[in-house]
Amino acid sequence: TSDECATDGGTDGLNEVEAMDKEYVFGTWSYQKEVSPTEMVDSEGVYFTDARGERRLDFSGQLMCANLGYSADRVADAMAEQARRGPYFAPSMTTENRARLGKHLADITPGELSKTFFSTSGTEAVEAAIKIARLYTGKHKIVSRYRSYHGATYGSISVTGDPRRLMAEPGIPGTIKAPDPYAYGSTLDPMESLEYIGEMLMLEGDTVAAVLVEPVVGSNGILVPPKEYLPRLKEIAHDHGALLIADEVMAGFGRTGEWFGCDVFDVAPDIMTMAKGLTGAYAPLGATVVTGEIAAHFEENMFCHGHTYAGHPVAVAAGRAAVETYIEDDLIDHARSVGDYLGDRLDELAEDHPSVGETRGVGLFRGVELTKRSDRREPFGHRKDKISTGKTVVDEVSGEAWDDGVYLANMINTLIIAPPLVISEDEIDEAVAVLDDALRHSDRAMEA
Ligand code: PLP
Repeated sequence: TSDECATDGGTDGLNEVEAMDKEYVFGTWSYQKEVSPTEMVDSEGVYFTDARGERRLDFSGQLMCANLGYSADRVADAMAEQARRGPYFAPSMTTENRARLGKHLADITPGELSKTFFSTSGTEAVEAAIKIARLYTGKHKIVSRYRSYHGATYGSISVTGDPRRLMAEPGIPGTIKAPDPYAYGSTLDPMESLEYIGEMLMLEGDTVAAVLVEPVVGSNGILVPPKEYLPRLKEIAHDHGALLIADEVMAGFGRTGEWFGCDVFDVAPDIMTMAKGLTGAYAPLGATVVTGEIAAHFEENMFCHGHTYAGHPVAVAAGRAAVETYIEDDLIDHARSVGDYLGDRLDELAEDHPSVGETRGVGLFRGVELTKRSDRREPFGHRKDKISTGKTVVDEVSGEAWDDGVYLANMINTLIIAPPLVISEDEIDEAVAVLDDALRHSDRAMEA
């Protein structure tokens, strides 16, 4: 995702490395004058340490990607071994790691998903999904939703709904936005919003290649739709000759307590995109997995896509070792059980803090939405605030937590809680105690 989700609470007095970095390296998604990088030097378990010796508990898995925490030696070793044996071979050649990772993905994904295109990021995974859907259906439009993030390049930002899209407009042609399954503070019921999508598809005629959604919306607020939503969306899409693309870049790999967000709803999409947890953030790797039927189309039609680093040997070594770590260390079940515990602890915070409008989520994928008027469900931050300068109340809460030893990402008006899957209940308690303190800040900022 975007660093725009991240917050370091601000640092006065950069050290030499930080000052050099600020001078020579762009900070992502930022007004450069506000960029304040903190030098990191070490990490272990669910903690990371900066150059001043401050250790912080990672309550957001960096950008909701460090699913394995910082001590997955099996992954680090696999990368080092591959780098020594052969750091790079062109995509027309292969390695055992690439073949086995492809097979693993076919095994762990739902339904008929079976063949993978590897890239280097979630953004590229989405780009490939758009291109594949267009080539396969011969149609060009993509329907996605307003509360969504799908990537930063022109195609993926054009199908993104959140305000980051606005600076890249007009973007690519043929993208249409639909309403969201957002219940809190919205007038549209999630299931009504779904029927609206059906109406849109009907009115667009036979021109829509795919409907693209995050099964559980991530950076736009951790929105879990009702159980029937995704199955019905698939029906609606198929009734209108459109594919269902599930963007699992953030929700995938145990985040929800299941392998994939789609598994929470027992739905198998036609195309699935993934990145982040695919390597537990040890290496940049994206994947676009398609059904056997879609794959078969490209037997006789050119798969007109690729990158130099498509399926980079070191990255797929990390991916294979990461998937094997999820399986052997039973991390999906662990995420489900500690995820329930996390949910209970956050609900307690909601009772104690009037500025907590709603806590929601599933597994280790939770959002805490802050409101300045709980009676009106009125958020502290507005969606457009993320492209204006300055700190929001939600940034200040994250900043307080940072100063007290907990890293907490946020987006607009929601704190995003997505720790490494290896987190223990004691570590959750430690982070919740810090959050409890930090929320006094938003309580004080509430309007009477
Ligand atoms: N899709 C979703 C759902 C995401 O959350 C993100 C990033 O946060 C992306 C796509 C883009 O992935 P990346 O930042 O790896 O390019």
